[in-house]
Amino acid sequence: MTDVIQHYVNGRVAEGASGRFGDVYNPAIGEVVRKVSFASAAEVRGAVAAAKAAFPAWAATPPLRRARVMFRLKQLLEDNLDELARLVTEEHGKTVDDAKGSTTRGIEVVEFACGIPHLLKGEFTGDVGTAIDSYSMRQPLGVVAGITPFNFPAMIPLWMSPIAIACGNTFILKPSEKDPSFSMRLAELYKEAGLPDGVFNVVQGDKEAVNAILTDPDIAAVSFVGATATAEYIYHTGCAHNKRVQALGGAKNHMVIMPDADMEQVSDAIMGAAYGSAGERCMAISVAVAVGDKVADQLIDRLTPRVQALKVGPGVDPEVEMGPLVTKEHYDKVMGYIDRGVKEGASLVLDGRKISLQGYEKGYFMGGSIFDKVTTDMSIYTDEIFGPVLSVVRAKDYGEAVDMVNSHEYGNGTAIFTRDGDAARSFADGIKVGMVGVNVPIPVPVAYHSFGGWKRSLFGDHHMHGMEGVRFYTKLKTVTARWPTGIRAGADYSIPVLG
Ligand code: NAD
Repeated sequence: MTDVIQHYVNGRVAEGASGRFGDVYNPAIGEVVRKVSFASAAEVRGAVAAAKAAFPAWAATPPLRRARVMFRLKQLLEDNLDELARLVTEEHGKTVDDAKGSTTRGIEVVEFACGIPHLLKGEFTGDVGTAIDSYSMRQPLGVVAGITPFNFPAMIPLWMSPIAIACGNTFILKPSEKDPSFSMRLAELYKEAGLPDGVFNVVQGDKEAVNAILTDPDIAAVSFVGATATAEYIYHTGCAHNKRVQALGGAKNHMVIMPDADMEQVSDAIMGAAYGSAGERCMAISVAVAVGDKVADQLIDRLTPRVQALKVGPGVDPEVEMGPLVTKEHYDKVMGYIDRGVKEGASLVLDGRKISLQGYEKGYFMGGSIFDKVTTDMSIYTDEIFGPVLSVVRAKDYGEAVDMVNSHEYGNGTAIFTRDGDAARSFADGIKVGMVGVNVPIPVPVAYHSFGGWKRSLFGDHHMHGMEGVRFYTKLKTVTARWPTGIRAGADYSIPVLG
């Protein structure tokens, strides 16, 4: 019988009762490897009730004790890294090394959360008035939820839950239905780390579970990462139900290549940034903006043989550089974009559509593709493709390159490659994008900084993890206290000011 991935509520596996299931594929072989239960609204309600019941005791647990759970969780995640990475590879398709790397970036957020006693320290001012002190504290919100995408089944739940929980909240995770297994192992490891039952819960499912989360009056805040259309819906629906929402969406990340750039460094950077994880990263470089025809020609000359030589295959093979796409549906979508790019008049320098791997004929494999002479009106430029397809756009000068980046609807990440400090500084200062790299192709901020885009790559005001995460998952309270009680100020009918 096929395994069924269930929910995890109140410290134990909760068997799905809705009678609705999804198929989970191994994309390297194109076969269903297990099923996943889809939660009904009533099942989501049950998980929220468990999280609500666990909240008062967890919120009252001293931050240092909460931190100790995080220290143990970090150790457990590291001890189990190989097994966790294989699970990610099996359902997502990315290489095991890449799965290990991205899980490690998630573990770094757990490390950050280990410092929660320090992070929650408020501000204090003595004598804001005579014998009057003022101090602030950050308190947890209550039950909070995270809804996550398929492309980082380990890292993104770890962007959210460690900080939310360390701040004293209880948590409901709704992972992607395409690769749900990691979430169950995470729940087990939280428990093994000593987290009380009900503090971390998992509900599997689709839109029905998401809508139940967005409308539940007992959920105070929702963190979301996924496609822009979903992010916008999550943001507006969650806000309409009085929740705090941060909803991170899609991307189209441009790399601007200046004429003085080190072209060896550029081509190394693009290989990893455009084709790593088969381009299924929200920080992937999907547009290379070459400043000048000479740069564009050099770039194409260098990239073409390297992309042609990419080792495509199952992610479990240590020799492989690029695994399959996540599902047949997504594979078809990416193929469709390559067809459209050709019809729209871009020059297809390298066509990754025709590839067949012996023994893996049913897997969702594509080779890398390169389009040259892409223009800003083409759908391969405007839309997020989320596959191993690079568009090279030719800009006549730096100003035109910057205008392109600034005019695009997405503003997640961008990079400039140059040796010119002036150009780099002006780029970092003026570009309308949330995360900027200078000679760094995928500028994903480390755990103690914060991750988030601008424009239609993020709905809401808070980026993820780092201090932004602490601010998102807490509310500020400020206390003004008068001591000693012996001092009589007398009645004052105007607003008090220090004379
Ligand atoms: P998705 O939006 O399809 O799914 C994300 C989550 O939303 C899943 O849990 C899914 O079950 C749920 N969902 C999907 N459609 C829904 C609907 N109509 N109503 C309610 N819930 C719905 O995204 P995906 O395909 O899993 O992930 C890829 C996308 O995520 C890409 O666009 C990528 O750029 C984006 N992404 C963004 C970031 C970022 O930090 N900005 C990071 C990773 C991925």
